[in-house]
Amino acid sequence: MSTLRFHALKEAYNHKPITVEENQRRSEIFGANVFNESTMRQYLTKEAFESVMDAIKNGSKIDRTVADHVSTGMKEWAISKGATHYTHWFQPLTGATAEKHDAFFEPIDSGRAIEKFGGGQLVQQEPDASSFPNGGIRNTFEARGYTAWDPTSPAFVFGTTLCIPTVFVAYTGEALDYKTPLLRALQAVDSAAVAVCKYFDKNVKKVNASLGWEQEYFLIDSGLAMSRPDIMLTGRTLLGHSPAKGQQLDDHYFGTIPNRAMAYMRDLETECMLLGIPVKTRHNEVAPNQFELAPIYDEANLAVDHNSLLMDVMDKVAERHNFKVLFHEKPFAGVNGSGKHNNWSLSTDTGINLLSPGKTPMSNLQFLTFFINTIKAVYDNEELLRAAIASASNDHRLGANEAPPAIISVFIGAQLTHTLNGLENVTDGKLSPQEKTDLKLNVVGKIPDVLLDNTDRNRTSPFAFTGNKFEFRAVGSKANCANPMTVLNAIVAKQLIDFKTEVDLLIEKKDMKKDDAIFNVLREYIKMSKPILFEGNGYSEAWEKEAKKRGLSNNKATPQALKAKISKKTLQLFEDLGVMNKIESEARYEIEIEEYVLRIQIEGRVLGDIARNHIVPTAVKYQNILITNVKGLKDIYGSDFKKYAKEQLNLIEQISSHIESINSTVTKMTEARRISNTIEDSERKAEAYCNEVKPFFEAIRYHCDKLELLVDDELWPLTKYRELLFTK
Ligand code: ADP
Ligand code: MG
Repeated sequence: MSTLRFHALKEAYNHKPITVEENQRRSEIFGANVFNESTMRQYLTKEAFESVMDAIKNGSKIDRTVADHVSTGMKEWAISKGATHYTHWFQPLTGATAEKHDAFFEPIDSGRAIEKFGGGQLVQQEPDASSFPNGGIRNTFEARGYTAWDPTSPAFVFGTTLCIPTVFVAYTGEALDYKTPLLRALQAVDSAAVAVCKYFDKNVKKVNASLGWEQEYFLIDSGLAMSRPDIMLTGRTLLGHSPAKGQQLDDHYFGTIPNRAMAYMRDLETECMLLGIPVKTRHNEVAPNQFELAPIYDEANLAVDHNSLLMDVMDKVAERHNFKVLFHEKPFAGVNGSGKHNNWSLSTDTGINLLSPGKTPMSNLQFLTFFINTIKAVYDNEELLRAAIASASNDHRLGANEAPPAIISVFIGAQLTHTLNGLENVTDGKLSPQEKTDLKLNVVGKIPDVLLDNTDRNRTSPFAFTGNKFEFRAVGSKANCANPMTVLNAIVAKQLIDFKTEVDLLIEKKDMKKDDAIFNVLREYIKMSKPILFEGNGYSEAWEKEAKKRGLSNNKATPQALKAKISKKTLQLFEDLGVMNKIESEARYEIEIEEYVLRIQIEGRVLGDIARNHIVPTAVKYQNILITNVKGLKDIYGSDFKKYAKEQLNLIEQISSHIESINSTVTKMTEARRISNTIEDSERKAEAYCNEVKPFFEAIRYHCDKLELLVDDELWPLTKYRELLFTK
């Protein structure tokens, strides 16, 4: 093993022990660093408290004088938690979170100082954030952007900073972040769903979308990770031969969590508890050194914030344990990638999960209404949903065998398939009393007991119904959940609006009873949406063919997939719902397409550098050793030497051939990059990077990985897969 790699490995055993209050109950520390309802009761005047609660529950505006009261209470509480600074915490379109810290400290007269934090500072800030991507919306010199407090997500103290969740918008009103469109989509689905709920229960006033994410990640020793330029610069390995042992024994999955990883997780969970992130489950994942963490689900906006915060916290806690967290969707070739399943449902303020079958035929009809409308929404917008999860890194995972394919389909299980088949045969028009009784007893009434058995979950499906929620499994581990959640809630909102219009029309124009109208519309939806339902193996080639026949999209690469974001249909959909106007949609598209180019560009450069500066010189060095050896053999054996140097000569030739291939391919790739860079149009440029540049990666990697097998381990400059994946 090379010295560099040896030192890195030694580091692995030098991590500091953690300092957790082991005997403190998690329930006692839960939310201790969050300005939540009970803390607000304690620190706010009654008027301020009620005003904030009303803003949270009903979206009402907070008065400026009330904001002053809130900020004072918030500051006192934050200082009691050790905070010295405050920041508006937001999610710019880089996908990461952003913050700019200001001190509470403010000098006053005669050399004294106070801690100050006014309502104005709470409500609105103007970060000089001109370098965040804005897709051309915000000319740096003209329109400025500002952050504005989002009271629906509580403030929290992290380290010594009071963090206030905010939206980030341009002065001209356009959203510059992930949160703003999400909040708009959640509002749209709320009002659309409430209107539909009224068919079943007049008391429903609010419907919340819920999200329960499952975060997968790799935990790699930081010394080893830092010894790999590709991991440091791109978040994944661009080369590396598969280890002799991978995940084929399945011995890591749900196995005992290694001690060092366990110490990290405990420390991380404590931080999560303090921040009110209700993490509940942790376990090993399929690949070595791969793990998963999942919370109890929450209201979607809060859950999205929690996931963004979690990713920050994971990085910070990892530093204390000398780990590097890899969020990339495919950090290692040949072993499983990482995803972030988004479990999603809708629930009412009357305590009903709308995607959970009920106890009576009527509540089941409500369930079926939301269930079928969701399926229809996914069918009508499958391409947009695929676009919502598109990224250079997720392209490696989707369709790569252990992940859902790039084709969006819905799995519902045998029992619900049976129910839908029953509903599909409902008579056109008004139903006879006998038919209604039959339907209620034999179709709608049959759901609860059968659903208890949902063991036949299909892991290959990108969008699966799992008993009381849908699970969107194609979301990438690195992604900000706001993007898929905005799309999913928006398309369901749009669908529910259409549904209500159609049902009302049948009631008014055809004089149908409410039930009859609902059955009639649902029947048509079932017929229309059939092509999206798929219960078979999503990884199979047969499905690719079948999906094509059904007219489903299969956009394997990001530039192709993203186009759905600016289709006429999407622009109209977002515009109608008030989620995003045309400028905002186009700006986002522009940003994502540019990000794609940059990611591939960086990977190309890093791969070229490693191949030429690390791999080729090492191969030459080893070849020289072989040459010396052959010369020595010649000295000893004279003309007979070939008998003894056969393998060495063979190796020398193989090495030369790989070196030649690497150099010529890197040259071709660099040339392809140069040509792509001259393309002005960003869409065409992204396609050039995807189709002309990226294909060289595999070829370069192939020859480098072959050399890894030939060259003396002592000389090899890069930490190997077996060391990255099996060092615990
Ligand atoms: P699996 O790994 O089999 O998908 P898990 O138990 O790990 O299942 O994950 C289930 C996830 O679904 C959890 O994050 C949980 O909080 C979430 N969940 C459960 N009910 C709901 C719901 N009504 N809405 C949203 N998410 C939910
Ligand atoms: Mg899951």
